[in-house]
Amino acid sequence: MSTPLLELSGLTIRFGGLTAVDRLDMKIPVSNIRALIGPNGAGKSTVFNAITGIYRPTEGRITFQGQDITGKHPYRISALGIARTFQNIRLYKTLSVLDNVRIGAHGIGRGGLFGAIVRPPGIKAEERRINEASGDALELVGLLRKKDERADSLSYGEQRRLEIARALVSAPQILLLDEPAAGMNPQEKERLMLMIQQIAARGVTIFLVEHDMKFVMDLAQQVTVLDHGRKICTGTPDEVQSNLSVIEAYLGKEEAV
Ligand code: ADP
Ligand code: MG
Repeated sequence: MSTPLLELSGLTIRFGGLTAVDRLDMKIPVSNIRALIGPNGAGKSTVFNAITGIYRPTEGRITFQGQDITGKHPYRISALGIARTFQNIRLYKTLSVLDNVRIGAHGIGRGGLFGAIVRPPGIKAEERRINEASGDALELVGLLRKKDERADSLSYGEQRRLEIARALVSAPQILLLDEPAAGMNPQEKERLMLMIQQIAARGVTIFLVEHDMKFVMDLAQQVTVLDHGRKICTGTPDEVQSNLSVIEAYLGKEEAV
């Protein structure tokens, strides 16, 4: 077996007395579409926050392309090729669609953070590169023709796609999507699913948290189920669906919500 792209080993995150993630082991191979599911409060977003360096793990290790990234700063992790979207939309409402995407590219180009501020020679070429990459990302999410519109003029589904474009512009190896389909209507979900498949077809590994079971089961190759921070199982959508403990822990609670 080749080295997994992303590996979590005994990942544990505690907030005071609460263990939000409890000794989680996961291996995500290259080019996989992996889903992480579980009831509200299971610890899914906390896993993403640990991978992207927002929370420091209490215990355990996170390895990306064989390199230990545990506790590294978010900008370093992003520069290594890990991008994400957030559960709640985070856009600069009054900026244009294009500028919202360009923001995702700054600080990771050749000029780095320093270059983004002081603009040494060569920055023009970098700006051009960023504009091209931003255009490509917008095209991929079907928003290129709206590039000059204000972000807050977009529909909800478009805003969520814009966030994905912003994450993509850094040319990540892996894209973490936290509930990308939340609040979308069936047509928007269908379109999002096709888009994620297109992104995956370009070689970007996808790791997504999502509540819509049909969305997850149609899209993911492997599904991991989390409950109270603990992994219940990992398997293909069919394997997971037929796992009784999952039905009890996840679907049972879901009905009770
Ligand atoms: P999910 O995304 O699966 O709904 P979260 O990862 O957001 O769950 O939360 C898991 C648990 O950790 C919840 O009980 C939540 O209240 C708690 N939690 C998450 N972040 C923090 C934090 N910064 N401080 C304290 N508790 C937190
Ligand atoms: Mg969450």
